[in-house]
Amino acid sequence: MTCKKDILIIGAGPIGIACAMACEEKNLNYVIIEKGTLTNSIFNYPLNMTFFSTSEKLEINDIPFISNNPKPNRTEALEYYRRVATSNNLHIHLYESVQDVQKQKDIFVVKTSKQEYQAKKVIIATGFYDIPKYLGVPGEQLPKVSHYYKEAHPYSMQDVIVVGASNSSVDAALEIWRKGGRVTMVIRGNAIGERVKYWVRPDIINRIEEGSITAYFNSEILEIKKNDAIISTPKGTLTLPNDYVLALTGYQPNFQLLESANITFSDDEKRIPDYNKETMETNIEGLYLAGVICGGMETHKWFIENSRIHAKKIVDHISDLLK
Ligand code: FAD
Repeated sequence: MTCKKDILIIGAGPIGIACAMACEEKNLNYVIIEKGTLTNSIFNYPLNMTFFSTSEKLEINDIPFISNNPKPNRTEALEYYRRVATSNNLHIHLYESVQDVQKQKDIFVVKTSKQEYQAKKVIIATGFYDIPKYLGVPGEQLPKVSHYYKEAHPYSMQDVIVVGASNSSVDAALEIWRKGGRVTMVIRGNAIGERVKYWVRPDIINRIEEGSITAYFNSEILEIKKNDAIISTPKGTLTLPNDYVLALTGYQPNFQLLESANITFSDDEKRIPDYNKETMETNIEGLYLAGVICGGMETHKWFIENSRIHAKKIVDHISDLLK
């Protein structure tokens, strides 16, 4: 059976939810298709993560986001977006993955893991958190290697390599060290990332300087083995005893979904999809992008704070066309 909607939104992250709220305001007929839980990316963030944004900057439609501290944590964000979705009875189909989007004449045919939809307009708000940027080294597929970090307890009293020097790597390194893990950071650049939260950066720098956490700068992992890992450093190749590797080197959008929908890209390296900055419409008429997906490989460019505005831009444009 084919389900027919005016607007189909792919992804129930904060920005997909913002799009749904904008549709509600304009009384438009829509559905969100989400492959996992509501706000699946945030659900998969580290248990103890704190946002760098203050809570009002993460709000949707000016619905107050009350948090205990100025910067909310993961649990509070889940609570907030869940309440926005449930209190407004948003139309969301969870645990249903969109596999293909094709425009056929004036209608989009969207195939999911469960059924087929037809929609006049489609908004892709699929984020970037599902596909890691792999290291591409031998041993990366071993079970002791993970590209996601949840909590420190499993790493207590273990030799752990944390790859990277961004917020995720630094948070993981500090938490694991504080729970009794022996942490070594392997960092490609020559310093801790400039974008690391300003209140966390001095903490990691001090822990490295005092020798609590070992950091190899200008260094890379060459190979991961069952009991150790080989790294290249400016002083030569080292073999480190190792129980776990956390390769927190970032994530990338699902370009395949965009390509299969025939969206074009303006920059081969950064893979930034083409879209109209005013309306967020791609080169395919009626197909829109919202949220971090707009940044291509530049996943730091867009975040909740600065991309929630996409929802209004898109839905204002669509509602004018559907009138
Ligand atoms: P996402 O939240 O990633 O949502 C995309 C959704 O689409 C997901 O639920 C996913 O399951 C779903 N999806 C993907 N593919 C499919 C498919 N084929 N079919 C169906 N559903 C699909 N931003 C801030 O503004 N402030 C912060 O303080 C902040 N802190 C952060 C801390 C961390 C550790 C991380 C990783 C990110 C942080 N961000 C922050 C960034 C922010 O979380 C993202 O920008 C935000 O989640 C983007 O929202 P989105 O809706 O575009 O994408």
